[in-house]
Parts: sequence; structure tokens; C-alpha cells
Amino acid sequence: MHSNLIDGIWRNSQTALRNDNPSDLDDVVGEYASGSPDDMREAVAAARAAFPAWSRTTPQQRSDILDTAGSEILARRQVLGTLLAREEGKTLPEAIGEVTRAGQIFKFFAGEALRMQGELMDSVRPGVEVLVSREPVGVVGLITPWNFPIAIPAWKTAPALAFGNTVVLKPAELVPGSAWALADILQRAGLPAGVFNLVMGSGHVLGPAMLDAGIDALSFTGSQRTGQSLAKACAVRGIKVQLEMGGKNPLVVADDADLEQAVECALNGAFYATGQRCTASSRLIVCNSIHDAFVTRLAERTAALRVGHALAVESQIGPVASEAQLANNLSHVAGGQAEGARLVYGGERLKRTTRGYYQAPALFADCTPDMRLCREEIFGPVAAVLRAESYEHALALANDTPYGLAAGLCTRSLARATHFRRHAEAGMVMVNLPTAGVDYHVPFGGRKTSSHGPREQGRYAIEFYTTVKTAYLGS
Ligand code: ADP
Repeated sequence: MHSNLIDGIWRNSQTALRNDNPSDLDDVVGEYASGSPDDMREAVAAARAAFPAWSRTTPQQRSDILDTAGSEILARRQVLGTLLAREEGKTLPEAIGEVTRAGQIFKFFAGEALRMQGELMDSVRPGVEVLVSREPVGVVGLITPWNFPIAIPAWKTAPALAFGNTVVLKPAELVPGSAWALADILQRAGLPAGVFNLVMGSGHVLGPAMLDAGIDALSFTGSQRTGQSLAKACAVRGIKVQLEMGGKNPLVVADDADLEQAVECALNGAFYATGQRCTASSRLIVCNSIHDAFVTRLAERTAALRVGHALAVESQIGPVASEAQLANNLSHVAGGQAEGARLVYGGERLKRTTRGYYQAPALFADCTPDMRLCREEIFGPVAAVLRAESYEHALALANDTPYGLAAGLCTRSLARATHFRRHAEAGMVMVNLPTAGVDYHVPFGGRKTSSHGPREQGRYAIEFYTTVKTAYLGS
């Protein structure tokens, strides 16, 4: 059994999680500890005990450890990518790309550890100076989802450690392998006992235990339902909270768009990584004059996508990550048809030589904004095309959602690109690019119900992982 890491010690638990390969259910990736509330309490206590010394380490000490971890992740990207592809189901190139990103994130925050800055200014009162400085928040709990098994743990853990916090990570039940590998790498990179703790297991059991054990801050990525209930629980306990909860991201195709480029953006944004990205383009809003040509060409390209085993070189789309997710996708496909949307291509479960959760990407047309297909995050390879009368109509449709993570536009007009950048109600805007696929050195996050709290990643990550102190210095 792969153990939990608590206070620098690898500890087994009474029960185990079986990590299955969604490409091949006869391939068991491994057995992983499933922690108890006591394990969580001990992990939080260990992080609490380790905090004073870790928060007083020099930036150089923290930077060196993060840099060492980043180097190992990058050096082992092939092996770690294979593990990730086996447990989550994204294709091997996608998985290696994700691991590479995780390594680069550790390298980036190795630099950021050296750049924790403050401000010194004169007071409005004579003879007084004001010093604004940043301090770590304390013990940070991290709860992560299954769709990015190493990148999301990395983009939360690296800034937390860089700025002097101690960490308890609770990864998703479905993908403990990549989080375990990360814990192993961090441990060997030289982190003192208790600075980083890993407790794998059920969110329903470990989430409440984590909050009750007395963490200072919680960073969560996952479903809206879980995120919102955690936010309430954090509010009454005085826990600083940051939430990322997905999207229903629009890609607007203006009538002056380059057709092939727009189709490529839609194909990538909607279906790559099996549509299991919170930034996926699930609403394709296409202006009238280009609509029919776009739907015809996208259907051809979708039909030509090769769905298969994540490790097979010819696969372009891996399996859905789990049985529950596949059932959810299939029910949305059936629901879309029942609502009157036109299924142009796909949607059905596929058989392959191995037993896995394969699904043909589903393309719907003739959708209306009130359909569930256009309102609910599906988190699978299901895209809905909406017809727009004009660019202005398309923009209104794009913003007609409670979510606000990413929004894309395909156009050849600079004026439209600028207008869209200013008026799209989203945290991230992409022009002539897929809505999914973001850089690691700039802020990530959304508006409305997609996100809560400060942005993640890039220099903005410091807002969540530090707290500001204002000191008045008299003479
Ligand atoms: P998904 O539907 O994508 O699995 P969830 O929000 O259920 O989204 O899961 C995201 C993460 O939240 C996972 O690590 C999961 O274990 C955890 N989780 C689920 N329920 C709870 C809960 N009640 N409290 C804390 N964490 C939870």
C-alpha cells in the first residue's frame, strides 16, 4: 500500500483506495491509503508544529528545496506522465505536458520565494513611518480534484511552501498516485518533517476533519456544490478560503473568423483532455453567416478524432476518468436530445480492446441558452453549438451564464478582439486560441460562481498564501 505522509513518516491506514486505470479496468495502478479523521488531525497538528521553524527559514532554503523538487519532476516527466495517464486517462503527451507544467511551477515559485516584498512609506503623521510586509498565513489545507492530478497539487503546494506556510494536501480519491509521487519527491528534496503532509482518502470524511482540526487557510478546486459548502464552513471558523469551481466557457466564432482556425480552437477546447478541463469550451456560439460551414467542418474533424487507450500512440482522446463521470456524460447526451437539441455527432459509449470508459465526443447543434446542455457544467466531451444573429448577440449569449472562468473569441478584427476582451465576463479571455490551455506564470481564475478569493498562480498567488501586516514606526 502507498502510505500517507504525516509528520515526515509514511503511515499506512486501516483501509485502502484502489487506483484503477480508466483505459483498462484490468490494470490496477496501485493501492493507496485511505486516511481516517485521526490521520487528518495528526497531519494538521504536525503542520502546526512545523510552522514556526519553517516560517523562519530563509528564502534561499525554501527556494533550494522547491528548485530540487522541480528538477526531479522535470527529469522524471516520462515516468510520472505514464503514471498520470494510467490513473486519470489523459493521453500520454497530455500527461507529460501536465507533469512538465508541475515541474515548471516549482521552478517558478523557487524564484518567487526570493521575491517576497514589502513597502515602506512615510506616515501622514510627522515622524512616523509605515511598513507594509507579508507573512505566511500558517497551516494551509489543499483539496484537489481528479482532472489535473499533479498540476493542481503543484500550483497550490509550491506557492504555499515558497511563502513559508506548512501544508496538508488531500488529493482526489480517483487519482492518489500523482499526489503520492509529489509527496515522495518533496520529502526527498529535504523538507523538514511536518512541513508537507499528504492525507489521501474520502473527501466527505477528511474534508470536515481538516476544517475542524484548525487550519488557517483552505484552497479548494472541485465542484461548485462542494466548494460552496466548504466556503460556508470556513466562514464560521474564520478560515481564509480560495475556491475554483469550474465553468461553462463560451467560444464565440464571429462571422469574420478564419473557419479552419475556429474549428481547431473548438475541437481542442471542447474535446482534448476528454473535455475534462474546467476551462473547456462547452458552448460554441457561432454567428449566422459562418454557422453551417462551422458545424459541418467541426463534425468532420470530431468524427476523425481517435478515441483510445491513454498510452496508445495513436490515441488523441483518452477515456472518461470514471464510471460515474461517464454515466453523467451519457445522461447529459440523452437529456440534450430530450430537450430538442440536434445531436450532430457522437455521444455514445465506445468499445475498445481493453475494458475502459470510452465515449465518442458529442457535438450538439440547434441548442438554446435555457437548455441544461448550455447551463450546467458537464465535465466531459460534450459541446453545444448556439446560433447567434450578430457579434453583439453572441457576446450576450457568452455572458449569459452564472459561471465566468474563461471566454474565447475567433475573429480577424482587432476592434472586436478588443471589445470582447473588455466585455467578456470572465477571468480569462482567449482570442484565436482555445479557451483551455493556460500559462503557469500568470494569474488563473474566474468571476461570478466560478471562483472565490484571490487568483491562483503567477505572482498573484502571493495574495492568498500570505497575509499583510501594516506596521507604524514612531521615532
Ligand atoms: P468532483 O465532482 O469533480 O469529484 P468534488 O467537489 O466532489 O468534485 O471533489 C473535489 C475534491 O473535493 C476531491 O478531493 C474530493 O475528495 C473533495 N471533497 C468531496 N466532498 C468533500 C467534502 N464534503 N469536504 C471536503 N472535500 C470534499
